[in-house]
Amino acid sequence: MDQTLTLYALGAAAAAASLPGLKARLELSRAKHPSLGGHSWIARRMARLVPHYTYDEEGFFRSDAAPEDVAERRRAGLLQLAELYRQRFPETLRLGAEVEPGLSDMQFTAAYRVPYQYASVVRQYLRVGAFAASSSGVTLTDLDGNRAYDLTGSYGVNLLGHDFYKECVDRGIERVRAVGPVLLGAYTPLIAYNVKRLREISGLDEVSFHMSGTEAVMQAVRLARYHTGRSHLVRFCGAYHGWWEDVQPGVGNPRPVRETYTLQDMAGSSLRVLRKRRDIACVLVNPAQALHPNAGAPADSLLLDSGRSARYDRGAYSAWLKELRAVCSERNVPLIFDEVFVGFRLAPGGAQEYFGVQADMVTYGKTLGGGLPVGVVCGRKDLMKRFSTERPSDVCFARGTFNSHPYVMAAMHEFLQRLDTPEIRALYRDLNAVWDGRAQRLNARLEGQGLPVRVANLSTIWTVCYTRPSRYNWMFQYYLRAQGLALSWVGTGRFIFSLNYGEADFEAVADRFSAAACAMERDGWWWSDGTLTNRGIKRKVLGELLASFW
Ligand code: PMP
Repeated sequence: MDQTLTLYALGAAAAAASLPGLKARLELSRAKHPSLGGHSWIARRMARLVPHYTYDEEGFFRSDAAPEDVAERRRAGLLQLAELYRQRFPETLRLGAEVEPGLSDMQFTAAYRVPYQYASVVRQYLRVGAFAASSSGVTLTDLDGNRAYDLTGSYGVNLLGHDFYKECVDRGIERVRAVGPVLLGAYTPLIAYNVKRLREISGLDEVSFHMSGTEAVMQAVRLARYHTGRSHLVRFCGAYHGWWEDVQPGVGNPRPVRETYTLQDMAGSSLRVLRKRRDIACVLVNPAQALHPNAGAPADSLLLDSGRSARYDRGAYSAWLKELRAVCSERNVPLIFDEVFVGFRLAPGGAQEYFGVQADMVTYGKTLGGGLPVGVVCGRKDLMKRFSTERPSDVCFARGTFNSHPYVMAAMHEFLQRLDTPEIRALYRDLNAVWDGRAQRLNARLEGQGLPVRVANLSTIWTVCYTRPSRYNWMFQYYLRAQGLALSWVGTGRFIFSLNYGEADFEAVADRFSAAACAMERDGWWWSDGTLTNRGIKRKVLGELLASFW
């Protein structure tokens, strides 16, 4: 009896001792977004289980159980588009077919333009060219001489128009011609201006130069870990921070990541975790998430139904960043703004200026290189230091052969100088009002035409949403291309406009967008008998997945 009591007492003591740990774990669970994106470990494991299956032509046209006459309209539409592509893009497509077998990146993007069930039929009829012969203004010209409005935004690099970057690079290289391209280790004196301006723009003490946005983020996190002595980085569900291991704990990374917490964006439960845990080295924020908090960057390969949603609320997101700032200050956790994408796009002073929040470190990249590859970290002096004065062998190593490359520094110098010119400043005037107005006008037009498609935007960053449940929204990208709009491989997931899009350019894009949607509707892809729902579509896809196991 005594022995049993002792065992009970020991058990109770052990439970009491582990209670705080249990509570912390529960709090962490509560701070995760319920989607798969919030559960990286499960998402990775599940992704490995998804079996491949593909629709034959019958299934391709009728995966929503459309009647035969609708399937016929779709078939006719596809054949017409295929013929148009064949006639219009012969050289662009020929070179693609030649290069693709040897170019891994091209194979990947070509395979993930549409949901994989439809990919083999799409690839048979609708190959997309991935080459351009020239660029000018807001347009790209392919190898067959077709000019298209550029909505790709060059992954976000193209903020001020193709010609702007050609000039930055040409003039920049001219200025460092005497030292040439391999002055590495020593610096071009032009770097002094870049450091000065970046300190002013970021409101931070020091700057370091790297070769890509991914590397800038790696370095910022490494420094935060070094100085805090803590292990974990916090990122928010869905946010992209480059393709380095610790910032990509979910699908896409073959290895599990153990020192990253993926928390829910804009949630009090996440703030509670930040207040309680002692192992958090830094908090990473990608302000582009303001357009679709807790969801990954939208891509048409994931467009299985019409569930994509996006809505930007500046007030709510600013308030969230301020709360985050306050908790990070309270807990002495470095707050890192990853402005590799949005830096200089929302305001000349970046997201910090735009949302009115000062971070402890900021990463920049993309457009800041003036057209050349770059990554930059700006940070508080105490966080940027890479060695310990008291313990000389305690260093935080960071190198990179091409960091501070003279051409990059010179093109950046041009970029930063031009940023302050009245012409460029004028482009920022009423930036939000201009782009919100354009989005609203386009939406009103689409609504007036009874078309089931709308746009949502964070300034010049746009995404397309679909209002009627459908399995074929990903087809829309091919109608848009046929209208002379150049899209990136994520299709209608993301359009990125450069600030030099004038009214007439935008109206031309809006006309083409609306014409593409009319053609898509005419060809029956958005057919619905009123019974189709997004949930019903998901259920059907799940059924197909399960069936394809056996
Ligand atoms: N952070 C953010 C927010 C980004 O958008 C990107 C690129 N899309 C990166 C980091 C990575 O930059 P890079 O592709 O230059 O490595």
